[in-house]
Amino acid sequence: MKKNKAVFLDRDGVLNRELGDYVCKLEDFHVLEHNFAPLKALQDKGYLLIVITNQGGTAKGWYSEETLAQMHDHLRTVFEAQGIHLTEIYYCRHHPDYNGNCMCRKPGSLMLEKGVARFDIDASKSYFIGDRERDVIAGEAAGLTGILIDSDQPISEVLHLIA
Ligand SMILES: [Mg+2]
Ligand SMILES: [Zn+2]
Repeated sequence: MKKNKAVFLDRDGVLNRELGDYVCKLEDFHVLEHNFAPLKALQDKGYLLIVITNQGGTAKGWYSEETLAQMHDHLRTVFEAQGIHLTEIYYCRHHPDYNGNCMCRKPGSLMLEKGVARFDIDASKSYFIGDRERDVIAGEAAGLTGILIDSDQPISEVLHLIA
């Protein structure tokens, strides 16, 4: 029996403001504060929170993995101050036009499958919230329930879809 359940979360447009393109600079990384309460509520219901994000901008050289790490440190710090713990942040550093095809870039499901295996997650009781069709495709390929939101839409508006 798998022990855990999780809500996997896309990053841009779900946890931080969607800019319409890659977030390249730390100062352009704006955490969506309206999601503090619903994420805390999910955590309190026993869901692990795991981030799954395509960051092909690193492959294009638009920002470094060091800058990406700074964004993720910032995200963790802001969330921890609200009592929200991110279990893991998985990102894909590939882009098919720059460093080849991979199985992690969404709609590929490898990052989700890694998280499911590593944290002993029951996929049938878990979800993936994203703002792109490719997020739903990836989630369902990994056996999760995909939930499509609009970019920057409050997660509170879809909480009723999560048991
Ligand atoms: Mg997104
Ligand atoms: Zn990849």
